[in-house]
Amino acid sequence: MKKELQIFTFNDLLYHFPHRHIDKTKVGKINLINYQTDFIQVAGILQPFEIIGEKRARRLVAYLRDETGALELTWFQGISWVQKNLVPGQKYLVFGRTGFFNGRPQMVHPEIELFVPAKADGKDYLEPVYPATEKLKARGLNGRQIGKLTFQLFSQIKPSDIPENIPEDIFKKLKLMNRYEAFSNTHFPVSQEAYQLALRRLKFEEFFIAQIRLNLVRLQRHRSSRGVIFEKVGDLFNDFYNHHLPFELTGAQKRVIREIRTDTGRGHQMNRLLQGDVGSGKTIVALLSMLLAADNGYQSCMMAPTEILAQQHYNGLKELLKDMPVEIALLTGSVKGKERKRILNGLLDDSIHFVVGTHAVIEDVVQFKNLGLVIVDEQHRFGVAQRARLWEKAVVPPHVLVMTATPIPRTLAMTAYGDLDYSVMDELPPGRQPITTVHRNEMARASVMEFVRTEINKGRQAYFIYPLIEESEKLSYEDLMQGYEQVKSFFPEPSYRISMVHGRQSAEEKETNMQRFVQHDTHIMVSTTVIEVGVNVPNATVMVIESSEKFGLSQLHQLRGRVGRGSEKSFCILLTGSKVSKDAKERINTMCATNDGFKIAEKDLELRGPGDIEGTRQSGELNFKVASIVNDKDLLELAKTTAEQCCEEDPTLDMAKNLLLKNYLRSQKGKNAWSRIS
Ligand code: ADP
Ligand code: MG
Repeated sequence: MKKELQIFTFNDLLYHFPHRHIDKTKVGKINLINYQTDFIQVAGILQPFEIIGEKRARRLVAYLRDETGALELTWFQGISWVQKNLVPGQKYLVFGRTGFFNGRPQMVHPEIELFVPAKADGKDYLEPVYPATEKLKARGLNGRQIGKLTFQLFSQIKPSDIPENIPEDIFKKLKLMNRYEAFSNTHFPVSQEAYQLALRRLKFEEFFIAQIRLNLVRLQRHRSSRGVIFEKVGDLFNDFYNHHLPFELTGAQKRVIREIRTDTGRGHQMNRLLQGDVGSGKTIVALLSMLLAADNGYQSCMMAPTEILAQQHYNGLKELLKDMPVEIALLTGSVKGKERKRILNGLLDDSIHFVVGTHAVIEDVVQFKNLGLVIVDEQHRFGVAQRARLWEKAVVPPHVLVMTATPIPRTLAMTAYGDLDYSVMDELPPGRQPITTVHRNEMARASVMEFVRTEINKGRQAYFIYPLIEESEKLSYEDLMQGYEQVKSFFPEPSYRISMVHGRQSAEEKETNMQRFVQHDTHIMVSTTVIEVGVNVPNATVMVIESSEKFGLSQLHQLRGRVGRGSEKSFCILLTGSKVSKDAKERINTMCATNDGFKIAEKDLELRGPGDIEGTRQSGELNFKVASIVNDKDLLELAKTTAEQCCEEDPTLDMAKNLLLKNYLRSQKGKNAWSRIS
């Protein structure tokens, strides 16, 4: 049994929570079972056993009879155990999922025990039911045995065996149930109410302890890491801010820049994740940070995941910096020969201040004279190893700003990135019109094409996106080509011109096609998801996504973010066939209902669960035993702010009131303090 459920110690038993409780006061009547009944608890006299059926259909059947009718109980496994342990003629309490067999109500492998009348005092009497594996059940070892062990455990321990671990002031302020009571009441609740309070306490504890840990790691990093100091805001920053900024910054942009300033002036290394929805204006935040670095005599590099993006950032930044005395260079795989040499030398002798490029290139070959800031765009999976490689390029590690437009739900970010410094830009620049999103069946393609035509005739541009078929690059390619021909038949040359970008093209081909679209030389961009991130063509107002049921939510949101970037009204059309799974349908409905990336991320989390969300670290940090980051958001918020206050007040947890907490954290570090059950 120990091996099956991974229960080895008292502690494991404590944490093996019941999945439900039997409330003996709630017993149903057999004649009330109908096709809508799901789970039910009934009590009645067990009738004699009968073994029927052959081979795999061989089963033990017995009726349970109450004053209203009879329920068929069936066992396919553990037959001899049932025969040995259950006694016909006795009254039993039975719980399980009901079904119908030959028109009669039936329960297969019910939970069953001798009936004990509810206590006369009229109070709830809640008995725990524990999860057990099928294998154990087949051997007659059900949750009851686990319950017995747990009951024994509780009869032997004292409150001091499960000491409090939450500091007293917090404990009192939040009116928490104490730790011993909480464990006792999750297993053997004295009432429904006590059970709820116990759960709340244990969930809070779980979040709180995790948040304390993350905060301690973050503070430790702040204390122990050395970082270059950007002590002043100088001429470059001010000149740009006052004379060259093309627009007023949003409140969120200003706030994040302040956060970065504070961070980089303190003498420890900044390690900041900046989350901002598509179009929230992260680039300008990056540029202002780079100017801040330059004001303090440091170089900056900005890394993008693709050549197209690097090129685009370079063009954009160069334009913004055209009247400024700073040198900026572009370094990608296709920059070769003399130009490459010039840039490498320029970075070594500090005559080039900013370099924009693709990750691989910058990580591998570049040496800087004085690197102070690294900006990683559109990639939150920028790992520790990659960071370390950049550190090697400087005596004191540069500050790192990771920017991502794939919103992560707040709750997830709090648990998965709680040890990083974290900023959110939750505000779009003013004047944006919301994008209208609709779902259309492929059969309606002709009218969709007509709609696209009216937009193009108004002078706008359109995207057609095809899915990457994971199993086969070849299939994706064929799909795309077919799509291209189809689009071409609706939009024939020479009136209409089409760009196409896909994974099989060389960097140059991609670039040429992209540039033609950017310069409005072509009207339509046909592409696989390679254009997903960051591409900025404000004149494009229509995004048609083919086979949109094949895309994940965050991907759809990213794609949609390619339109709605200018002042004109934009549209996103999600095409699907008529067979769409339930989940896909929900994704599409969500897209039609909202433009808010954070709401979409929440939905994504709900649909897929925390383990699968793109860009999160797959780690134990998300595995909570009682609490759920999806269902217990409010408690998580509370635990987070409480833990922050606690660590801020006492970063080493040396105050008397925090001693219990500190001891608990210590005890959890290595092996836990409980002895093994033998
Ligand atoms: P993202 O956060 O997706 O990287 P960008 O930095 O590409 O967003 O900005 C999107 C567009 O919004 C760009 O055209 C940019 O010039 C513009 N923009 C950014 N900030 C502002 C602002 N405060 N006011 C008006 N337009 C802005
Ligand atoms: Mg961007």
